[in-house]
Amino acid sequence: MHIRKISATFPPSLGELLARVIAIANQKGGVGKTTTAVNLGASLAASEKRTLIIDCDPQANATSALGFPKDPARRTLYQTLILAEPIERVMIDAQVDGLDLIPSDKNLVGAAVELVSMDQREFRLKAALEPIRGKYEFVLIDCPPSLDLLTLNALAASDAVLVPIQCEYLALEGVSELLDTLMRLRRTINPSLAIEGILLTMYDDRTSLSKQVAADLRSFFGSQVFETIIPRNVRLAEAPSHGVPVIFYDIRSKGAESYLDLAKEIIANVQKRLGQGPERPDSRPGDAASAATAGSGRGGSSSGSGPGAP
Ligand code: ATP
Ligand code: MG
Repeated sequence: MHIRKISATFPPSLGELLARVIAIANQKGGVGKTTTAVNLGASLAASEKRTLIIDCDPQANATSALGFPKDPARRTLYQTLILAEPIERVMIDAQVDGLDLIPSDKNLVGAAVELVSMDQREFRLKAALEPIRGKYEFVLIDCPPSLDLLTLNALAASDAVLVPIQCEYLALEGVSELLDTLMRLRRTINPSLAIEGILLTMYDDRTSLSKQVAADLRSFFGSQVFETIIPRNVRLAEAPSHGVPVIFYDIRSKGAESYLDLAKEIIANVQKRLGQGPERPDSRPGDAASAATAGSGRGGSSSGSGPGAP
């Protein structure tokens, strides 16, 4: 039974479209990756977009934030990545209409090590996802705060990466490093990896530091930065201990509002890209190459703060 029903109907068919797979990644810890995976996932589902969240972090924070505490009997991403168990057998209903979850647990630490000696070690998640990509409109992958084989599997399987950045001192330095890394990955494991967007998180409009960091990131990365900003909001921090996304904890909170806005922005970006015809990896709006250029157009923003797509 769905205890958290927010929407009665879903589009009957997603057509021939494959899910847009978005890795939520940043090597830096505690920047809001998991909070974004869980709450963006729930907000996309609430917007009638069938969504799968893959918890790719042995900390299993997304799994517990969705109401699934530790359970040694539960199958997890480990079984799929290492034992080649079909992903459908590991998938669980996230108890939110339109939202499914591939759970994680601490065994996944072992997977990061065991993968080293396996065939196609960076591409096992990509292969596992293939049979189910037609069932969803979005797949969000919550990455661990490292660049290990789990994150590489996530990035190899993804169309794009969403980078949450905490509005704090030295934020800019971290992003440039991360984008350099993504550029290298485009030359090796995933030539078509795009930047979905840079997301400012834990923004506190009472501090001049938050304002300054946001202004710096926008002036450097232009429309690569999402219009939507996630504020620091206590409801977002409280919701995981209740095992629900924030829209089911306090729908009127600023945190809930901001993730619903982000879902809208991302959906609008997809629609805009579809309107522009098939994507070409080298000219895709928001690609890693243009990310490195200040002020280059992501071209996917609903309101478009920067130059548009080429
Ligand atoms: P890790 O790198 O360890 O996986 P993370 O990047 O996934 O961390 P989160 O777990 O999402 O980061 O967030 C870190 C902490 O900050 C959590 O306690 C979370 O509840 C809190 N938090 C995240 N975003 C917000 C926000 N916008 N407002 C208030 N608290 C937040
Ligand atoms: Mg996390």
